[in-house]
Amino acid sequence: MDIFPSETESSTEAELLLLQADLQTWIDQVCDLGPYSEQDLPEAAECRARLDAGVPLLPGGVRPSRAAAQAALQGLMKLLRRYLPDSTQALDILERSVAEAGGASALLDMVLGGRGNAMLGWARRGGVADDLAVFHAVLLARPFRTWFARRLLRHVEAGMWSHGYCPLCGHWPSLGLLDGQEDGRRYLWCQHCGSQWRHPRLRCVFCATEDQSSLSVYSVDGLAGWRIQGCGGCRRYVKEVRLQQRREDAPCDALRLGTLALDEAAMDVGLLRESPLIAHHEREAPPLGFHAPSLRKASHNEKPLDGPMTGRCQ
Ligand SMILES: [Zn+2]
Ligand SMILES: [Zn+2]
Repeated sequence: MDIFPSETESSTEAELLLLQADLQTWIDQVCDLGPYSEQDLPEAAECRARLDAGVPLLPGGVRPSRAAAQAALQGLMKLLRRYLPDSTQALDILERSVAEAGGASALLDMVLGGRGNAMLGWARRGGVADDLAVFHAVLLARPFRTWFARRLLRHVEAGMWSHGYCPLCGHWPSLGLLDGQEDGRRYLWCQHCGSQWRHPRLRCVFCATEDQSSLSVYSVDGLAGWRIQGCGGCRRYVKEVRLQQRREDAPCDALRLGTLALDEAAMDVGLLRESPLIAHHEREAPPLGFHAPSLRKASHNEKPLDGPMTGRCQ
């Protein structure tokens, strides 16, 4: 596959793609367990009103079944043990800490309830490293958010959602996908629920500026097909890949994990990574009657994909 960085070893690439396939199977299995009831889904009119107000669709306060939560945890731990063979001890500590905190349901309450600080506090008390705790928590919540995404995203019609945060769960995107089959239109991908949504290429994902003097494109040696869009205004960035395949088939988790060098390159030029635990609506809930910024037609002088090499990764 040629969308991984050229220096990625083929064994690493194969491993990442295997992980992607196993993750997908696990997500499907948990979704098939029916973690929620169809009655937990908001009505179409409510979805429409939420989208109009810039509020993501995922309903708050709905708890998944205990059986699905427990099965999800077991499946995920098995997966992590397979792909992180050098972290056995850390995973033992993690598993014990989850049990002591009240099991999968208690952890999911914190994560799905947007209580990231409570989750980190729990992890630190149990001796679980922040990185592992966040990685695990985001993945554990994924099938539960995906269950809603698969049922609610049909309400997000083209042009209806102009924000950079996810229309389903409200988190900031982890990847930008430039669709080779749609004239390079940009879609954003959310690692929390697996959703993709369209977003103008000439707008900052985070602060929505369209001032082109604030937006920069960085390419990195050895990462052909990849770029970083960084914003001088809010100093945040998104990694973007030009896809040769259907974006629905893109192995997004593998791509995200296989390009951590890009995150380092971004930080080297002074850009900041958005915390994966922060969802837009949890930080600043839009007031009733909130209006989305109006869409402006994209200008014709977009910077080329392979822009000036101002960010480098050795
Ligand atoms: Zn999402
Ligand atoms: Zn910005």
